[in-house]
Amino acid sequence: MAEPTANEGQSLTRNQGAVLSALKGADKPLTAYDILGLPKIRKAGLKAPLTIYRALDKLMDQGLVHRIESLNAFVHCDHGPHDHATGFLICSDCGRTLEVHLDDCEDHLAGRAREQGFAVDAVKVEMTGRCPDCAAAEAARSRTS
Ligand SMILES: [Zn+2]
Ligand SMILES: [Zn+2]
Repeated sequence: MAEPTANEGQSLTRNQGAVLSALKGADKPLTAYDILGLPKIRKAGLKAPLTIYRALDKLMDQGLVHRIESLNAFVHCDHGPHDHATGFLICSDCGRTLEVHLDDCEDHLAGRAREQGFAVDAVKVEMTGRCPDCAAAEAARSRTS
């Protein structure tokens, strides 16, 4: 078994640390197979998808990583762990994602569910569109055409 190492006050195994640093170094969400394909992950000795998934599960338990359901991909949470609901803004052009807090929105959505007698476990919101850079690039394109 890998020796646990201290990382940001959390106790992470070597595998979890390697996966977390891969996500930290990425500018867009990564799937487990994206992570597996990274040279530094190979170099760290991680070779099986199951190993990656196991590390991701633990990192999600600790609130250090979020899963983007619609992409089946993962992002590092730079302000975790937190218990508030999060939404993701997903750029369909460049693939970048931004995490936003949805405290009020969560109350609102969960309230609608409660009216139906539905017990809510989690609220997940994913919005697709264009990030500021891509929106600006598109605006520039439409000006010149
Ligand atoms: Zn977060
Ligand atoms: Zn973009």
